[in-house]
Amino acid sequence: MLGQMMHRPLSTIEILRYGAETHTTSEIVSVRTEGDIHRYTYREAYHRVAQLAHALQKLGLKEGDRIATLAWNGYRHFELYYAIAGIGGVCHTINPRLSADQMIYITQHAEDKVLCVDLTFVPIVEALAEHFPNDMTYILMADRAHMPESRINFLCYEELAEGEPTEFDWVELAEDTASGLCYTSGTTGNPKGALYSHRSTVLHAYTVAISLGSVLKEGARVLPVVPLFHVNAWGLPYTAPLTGCSLIFPGSALDGKSLFDLMDREKVTSAWGVPTVWLGLQGEIAARGKNPDGFSSVIVGGSAAPRSMIENFEVSGVTVCHAWGMTEMSPIGTQGLLSAHEEEMLSQDEKLDMKALQGRRAFGVDLKIVDENGNALPHDGQAIGELYVRGNTIISGYYSNEEASDAAMDRDGWFGTGDVAYIDADGFLSIQDRAKDLIKSGGEWISSIDLENIVMAHPDVANCAVISVPHPKWDERPLLIVVPNGDKRVKKAEVDEMLLKQVAKWQLPDAIEFVEELPLTATGKVSKLTLRKSFKDYKLPDMK
Ligand code: ADP
Repeated sequence: MLGQMMHRPLSTIEILRYGAETHTTSEIVSVRTEGDIHRYTYREAYHRVAQLAHALQKLGLKEGDRIATLAWNGYRHFELYYAIAGIGGVCHTINPRLSADQMIYITQHAEDKVLCVDLTFVPIVEALAEHFPNDMTYILMADRAHMPESRINFLCYEELAEGEPTEFDWVELAEDTASGLCYTSGTTGNPKGALYSHRSTVLHAYTVAISLGSVLKEGARVLPVVPLFHVNAWGLPYTAPLTGCSLIFPGSALDGKSLFDLMDREKVTSAWGVPTVWLGLQGEIAARGKNPDGFSSVIVGGSAAPRSMIENFEVSGVTVCHAWGMTEMSPIGTQGLLSAHEEEMLSQDEKLDMKALQGRRAFGVDLKIVDENGNALPHDGQAIGELYVRGNTIISGYYSNEEASDAAMDRDGWFGTGDVAYIDADGFLSIQDRAKDLIKSGGEWISSIDLENIVMAHPDVANCAVISVPHPKWDERPLLIVVPNGDKRVKKAEVDEMLLKQVAKWQLPDAIEFVEELPLTATGKVSKLTLRKSFKDYKLPDMK
């Protein structure tokens, strides 16, 4: 028997309309590429989105068209998210840190019709336009006064929107209509596209709002350092208008000092981003001897947050929530806020141990770990296997890429994350490694994340990574690569002593190498692929 309830298609614009009508004082603050600060309310944003939707329609854009962006976190980028999806288009966010080849590949693969660009990225467009789709229209996200001299025929964003009606008769779209497109950064092979729908996006917003309700409550002021150009800034453009928290967009200045000043001035309560960003902010906090005013929460994810980083924040009164997810998951899969019971009963050390894990699943995300034959393993904190996920916010295949889709999905329709993990009896996920980063030594696995986590706590270590190097007897052995903190170079014996408190002797790195900085991927994570390439001929001490 069927229920007898209305069925209203889920639609992203409904989130902003709700924010505009109910959270009338919440605001969006943006550091602009023009150099100043811009602020307005969700209501004003909604009317601008309507104007922009009219402008996009006048350009002849229609349902299903891909409209790309190359832009920082700011209000115009936010407006594009909603206006494009509102007219049935697909907002294709491009990561400006991708290589030229990758950018050309994805604009061609997505068959983008329009590219909306921040001033900073004009040189990229000038360099690559002849390789982008031929009929591409270019829009510069600025006002007339800031239009650059360029051989590209840019339309002016503000001129397009100006004078258009501030209301729009939104077409009712089927909820499975595509709304957004984001390519993975493609560390191996070409980038692959995750094509989100209105339904998946709205459900993800609900999921995050419920999972992280204490951080995202009305009145909170949230700083997405995580970019709008990759994985939807972890869904914040949608969860914020839904819950009524304000968004503080940092523009292009993401160094510790700029972030500290912005957070202090704008009374940011919660800041979201990858660990590398927080290393910068923590340096600034240490130099000034205080936290930015009002700062009380960090959401960290994208790669494993070291325990020492979590501890540093926590002792200064900033609650850390360690989250895990993927582009293919909209992106949030798990979050690590502790239960009231755990907060009350556990010692500080026990809490930190738990917070260094990747947290519990969000509602709507199913997790399973499997052995090499695809058999499900128990969630007992012991069994380690490849992590598969299932849910309404997870891709059912890659955009227009059958081969990659077939490789990623198992026969029951679960998506293979490529991560190796265990899940404990309390539902906590522990990511051991990306499968390709695990070190396979003599038939056993060594988790690079575990080793890095421990070594990061050493005061003479600013950053570190553990990679595998080929070994004739053991297949692979771990090599520790350290960015020193100051002039002192940490001694191997000291590192071994720290590690031996938690890992077995055969898991110790065979050697340490020092570098000035670690190579980063386009999404700000340490690029182990680049490191492995640089050290592929490295001779460990017992091989010399
Ligand atoms: P990419 O940066 O490769 O484009 P994603 O941003 O989608 O792609 O990265 C997803 C991957 O990042 C996960 O599969 C996992 O390996 C890693 N990751 C994300 N969050 C965490 C975390 N909290 N701890 C450890 N690894 C993480």
